[in-house]
Amino acid sequence: MFNRREFFKNASIIGRAVSTKWLVVVVCMLATEALYGQAKSKTENVVLITLDGFRWQEVFNGGDSAFMRQQQHLKDGKLKEKYWRNNLQERRNALLPFFWNTLAVKGQLYGNRIEGCKVNVTNNQWFSYPGYNEILTGSADNERIHSNDKFYNPNTNVLEFINSQPAFKGKVAAFSSWDVFPYIINDKRNQIFVSAGLTEAKGEKLSERERTLNDLMTTIPNPLGDVRLDAFTFHLGLEYMKKSKPRVMYFAFDETDDFAHAGEYGAYLNAANYTDRFIGMLWNYIQSDPKYKDKTSMIITCDHGRGPGLEDWKHHGQKIAEADQIWMAVIGPDTPPSGEVKGECQYYQNQVAKTLAALLGLEYKNERPVGDSIRPMLGMK
Ligand SMILES: [Zn+2]
Repeated sequence: MFNRREFFKNASIIGRAVSTKWLVVVVCMLATEALYGQAKSKTENVVLITLDGFRWQEVFNGGDSAFMRQQQHLKDGKLKEKYWRNNLQERRNALLPFFWNTLAVKGQLYGNRIEGCKVNVTNNQWFSYPGYNEILTGSADNERIHSNDKFYNPNTNVLEFINSQPAFKGKVAAFSSWDVFPYIINDKRNQIFVSAGLTEAKGEKLSERERTLNDLMTTIPNPLGDVRLDAFTFHLGLEYMKKSKPRVMYFAFDETDDFAHAGEYGAYLNAANYTDRFIGMLWNYIQSDPKYKDKTSMIITCDHGRGPGLEDWKHHGQKIAEADQIWMAVIGPDTPPSGEVKGECQYYQNQVAKTLAALLGLEYKNERPVGDSIRPMLGMK
């Protein structure tokens, strides 16, 4: 016969046993998380992308009308038509459609200082090599890294840390427009595959597309000298990804900085707009290849900011106020889609390296002290 009282007594004991068991499991999970700094991640691959000296002002506000007016007499008469909209949302969408239609919806965007969210570099140099050193090593080094000269970086970086893990050996690669990257990454020391500057695709089994890219790259006038145009860096890198399936890929784009130094605001905006398109194409590829789909995160940032005014936006470096202000974006299976981060926050460039490794479930360490991982990017409070 069904004994009601007995049943509830037993149910209560079982319930307590079950909840105690779950409590133990939860405590263990929390302890593991506290110990290793992250929960188990879904991310198996990471793509790091940088846009050299691209200002947070354009990321969050779109093209600036005063800057555009100054440019009207220059080459691009359609500048306003392409990038000016009275409405802020429409304006930034026009410049960076992938950022605002995808990253801001499915990922996270940091650095809109108007909304209170600040991102800064910690090095005191505010130019490229020190910025890339900080991104890749997780630590500013003002004593040793204070020029853009081609010298091999004495600091080890997160790319080689990952490449030294058995599961990632030989699966880390970098494609950069600027030819100083082999030195910044120090490919001589760590054997990471770096395709930089006017380097063609090499190897026996070149795809038709790679052969065409090689032909074009060496026969088109290049306004940037030794710097490879970003379109070649992107398409050659994408071909490499399709063939070699790296687990960590770094794209370092450059045109934004070159055109800014030349004072060509229109070309600077176009470069940002093209790069946004490249990143969108890359994300589409990632989400179409079973090797990458739903298990790949992208981190996007820049090496330094630039001045805020009509003249000093062209420049950066220690003497240019606010050139230490940067931005960051992230998208991937472990990153909650909180979009544009609003409200007080302060993050630093030296946090990228540890965050990148943490997305892969690795705890990055360096001989120098490194910035902490950015917890919200990992879905943690
Ligand atoms: Zn520069």
